[in-house]
Amino acid sequence: MNEPGHGERPGNGTALLEVRDLTVHHGQLRALDRISLRVFPGEVYAIIGANGAGKSTLLRTIAGLHRPTEGTIRYDGKDMTKVRPERRATAGIVMVPEGRRLFGSLTVEENLKVGATYARKGPWTIERVYELFGWMKDRRTQRTAQLSGGEQQSVAIGRALAANPRVLLLDELSLGLAPVIVQRIYAMLPQILATGLTVLLVEQDVSQALQVASHIQCLLEGHTTLEGRPSEVTAEQVEAAYFGLSQAAAEGSEPLWHGSTPSSRAS
Ligand code: ATP
Repeated sequence: MNEPGHGERPGNGTALLEVRDLTVHHGQLRALDRISLRVFPGEVYAIIGANGAGKSTLLRTIAGLHRPTEGTIRYDGKDMTKVRPERRATAGIVMVPEGRRLFGSLTVEENLKVGATYARKGPWTIERVYELFGWMKDRRTQRTAQLSGGEQQSVAIGRALAANPRVLLLDELSLGLAPVIVQRIYAMLPQILATGLTVLLVEQDVSQALQVASHIQCLLEGHTTLEGRPSEVTAEQVEAAYFGLSQAAAEGSEPLWHGSTPSSRAS
């Protein structure tokens, strides 16, 4: 395991996104305490942690929606710490927010057009989004408020893709969705990555995060408690980091996920 936020990933050069010693307060509450991470081009980096760990605060601060008390955010070699959110988006840092935040009274296509309004140049167009989500084109004139949760999540992802991000920030895609729908949405990730994107995601669903991530970082009450590749960490370590348990206590607790353990997964 590596020092939090400074893990080496073989074969990778310069980080596309680098967060250093980021501290964020909500009023008196220190929601993040000196968090560091480096995300390399083409990887899926997952932030895991329980309710209130600070995951959304981290993603929202990277998107420019919270101002850090201390620390820096560098993207593509430039200091973005004080750059306005809309300029970060046009530079390629685009977020799918927790809870989707679609315009419910607008149609599917109108929502996608919102994403495309200040799009960078790149491979994603509204047509390409329709190719990714096969059902979407036929229902492009439907109001998004009438869609199911999974469909709304897909439109929210499509809206972000239509902006042609370089780094896609995904905040709890699984929230409020049935496991089968969550799996279907995450199954789209390889096609998204194939267009050259890098993904930084936040998940409470540890199984899901471990399945898709090349690197994980666990937060607990604003601190990093574990970091590494899924193949490098054991179930017990994740358990302990997630709940703040001692290792011995974690070994006697119920598993946090089912199926293959990270230690049995191929790297
Ligand atoms: P969840 O999965 O519940 O969204 P999280 O890990 O994303 O949790 P955050 O939403 O970042 O955690 O919250 C971290 C802490 O900051 C929590 O204690 C939360 O109550 C607090 N917090 C978050 N946003 C605000 C805000 N806008 N104002 C005040 N406190 C906030």
